[in-house]
Amino acid sequence: MTTPDETSESTPETADTTPTSDKRELRFDTSWSYAPAPESTDHIRLESTYGLFIDGEMVEPASGERFSTINPARDEKLADVSMAGAADVDRAVQAARQALEGPWGQMSDAERGKILFRVARMIQERARELAIIESLDGGKPIRESRDIDIPLVAAHFFYYAGWADKLEFAFPGRHARPLGVAGQIIPWNFPLLMAAWKLAPALATGNTVVLKPAETTPLTALKLAEILQDAGVPPGVVNIVTGAGETGAELVQHPLVDKVAFTGSTEVGKIIQRALAGTSKRFTLELGGKAANIVFEDAAIDQAVEGIVNGIFFNQGHVCCAGSRLFVQESVADLLVAKLKDRMATLIVGDPLDKNTDIGAINSSDQLEKIESYLEIGKSEGVEVYQPSCSVPDSGFWCRPTLFLGCAQSHRVVQEEIFGPVLAVQTFRTVDEAIKKANNTPYGLSGGVWTDKGAKAFRISDKLRAGVVWANTYNKFDPSSPFGGYKESGVGREGGLHGLSPYLELSA
Ligand code: NAP
Ligand code: MG
Repeated sequence: MTTPDETSESTPETADTTPTSDKRELRFDTSWSYAPAPESTDHIRLESTYGLFIDGEMVEPASGERFSTINPARDEKLADVSMAGAADVDRAVQAARQALEGPWGQMSDAERGKILFRVARMIQERARELAIIESLDGGKPIRESRDIDIPLVAAHFFYYAGWADKLEFAFPGRHARPLGVAGQIIPWNFPLLMAAWKLAPALATGNTVVLKPAETTPLTALKLAEILQDAGVPPGVVNIVTGAGETGAELVQHPLVDKVAFTGSTEVGKIIQRALAGTSKRFTLELGGKAANIVFEDAAIDQAVEGIVNGIFFNQGHVCCAGSRLFVQESVADLLVAKLKDRMATLIVGDPLDKNTDIGAINSSDQLEKIESYLEIGKSEGVEVYQPSCSVPDSGFWCRPTLFLGCAQSHRVVQEEIFGPVLAVQTFRTVDEAIKKANNTPYGLSGGVWTDKGAKAFRISDKLRAGVVWANTYNKFDPSSPFGGYKESGVGREGGLHGLSPYLELSA
C-alpha cells in the first residue's frame, strides 16, 4: 500500500498544472489501494434449518412453514428459518409465563445477575463468530460488527447484570417488581445489539421474554439462544420466535403479554400503538429518525467531515440516528462539500467480510429498491445527486455513498427517512436559522453540532428537539446513556438507569 504523500510529490520539471480541486480527486483516486483482507468463515457453523427457540428447546413451527435468510452481499441463501404463527407465539408466551412463576421468579436477584454476567462473558468469548454471522446475514462491514456491534452487545449485558441486585439503589424507597412477560420486536439494522438492548434490561429486572427478530437477520439471535442455554438461563425465560410482521402482530396482541418493546419504523410503531390502545399493556417504541448534523464555520472542518461520513455512511446509513440531513454554515459550505466529496472518493464499498470495507451491502433487495426510489425522487425534485465513481460488486445489493445537493426544506428527500447511505445537504446563515431548519421534521431522535465554541454547542443541543445530540462527534453509544426520541421518533427511553423503569412496577 502507498500513501498519497509518497506518490503525489511532483518535481519542478514535471510540475502539475491541474487546478487544485481536480488535483485532490486525482490524488485520492490513484493512490490508495488495499489488497483484499477477507475474514475467514471456516470456523462458523450454521445449520441449514433452524427451529423456534421455545421453553429452552429448538422446536418445529406448528405450520411447518419456513423462509430463507440470505447473505445480501451475494444474494445467496444462508439458512432456512421457521415461520412462527399464532400457535407458536402462544406456546412461547405460555412458556415465558411459566418461567416467570417458576425458576426465574424464584431466583435471587444476585443469582440472576450472575447468570447475566456469564452471558456477557460468553458473548465476548464468541465475539468473532457472532461478528462474522452478523456481517453475513445483514451485510454490515466486519469492522463495524467486530468493533462496534458485538462489543456493545457484551457491554449491555455487563451493564444491566450489574443492576440486577441493586434495584433498591436505583429506585430508593420504592419497591420494584418485574412487569411479567415482555414481547420484544426488533429491526434488522443492528440485529444482535437491538436484541441486547431489549433482553438485558428485561432480564436484569426479572421479566421473561418472547423476542421476535427481523425477517432478514434472524441468525445471531438464534446463536444467542445457544449462549443463553450454556450460561444457565432457565428454559422459557427467553423465547425466540422468528417470522414475519404478522408474527410480531400476534405477539403484540397476545393477552398474556404485559409489556411490548418495539424498535422499528414509525409506520409499524403507529400500528402497534393503535393495537395497544385501551389495553393495560405497557410499551416503549423506538422509531425512525431524520437527524440534523449542523456544522458551523468555526468548527474543525476535517474533523467534521469525518463525523459526517461516520454519521451517514456508517452501516450503509441503516441507522435510526444517522445524520441524514447536513446543515452547513454558508461561509464554509463550498469548502466542506469539496472535502466531503474527496473523502467519499476514498470509501470502499464491497464485501462486508473484508476488513478494509467501509460500506457493506444494503440489507435487502426491498431496502435497495426503496433507496433507489428516493434517488429518483431527489432527481425529480430538482436536487443534484452526487456519487463517487467507486466500483461495486456485480451480485448482491449495493448503493454508493450519495449526496443530495441544493436541497430545500420542502423536498421529500429532506423530510422522509430513507435509511441508506444518502445525505441531504443544506446551508444556513445564523444559529436561529440552523435550529429552525433542524427542528422542521416530524422526527426527533438525534442530532449533531460541530463548533469550536462550547457555549454554542450547549445552546443548540438544548434547542434541538432530539433525544440525543452529539457535539463534535457522532454515533457514540454507551450502555449507561439513555436513548430515545421526541415526536414521531418514539415513546420512552432505553439504556442506562432510564432503561430499567419501563420493565418495572414501582410502588411505595
Ligand atoms: P419495521 O418494518 O418497522 O420492522 C421492525 C420489526 O417489526 C421487524 O421485526 C418486523 O418484522 C416487525 N413488524 C413488521 N410489521 C409488524 C406489525 N404489524 N406488528 C408487529 N411487528 C411488525 O422496521 P425495519 O424496516 O425492520 O427497521 C428500520 C426502521 O427501524 C427504521 O425506521 C429505523 O429508524 C428504525 N429503528 C429505530 C431505532 C431506534 O432506536 N429508534 C433503532 C433501529 C431502527 P419483519 O422483519 O418480519 O418485517
Ligand atoms: Mg439475511
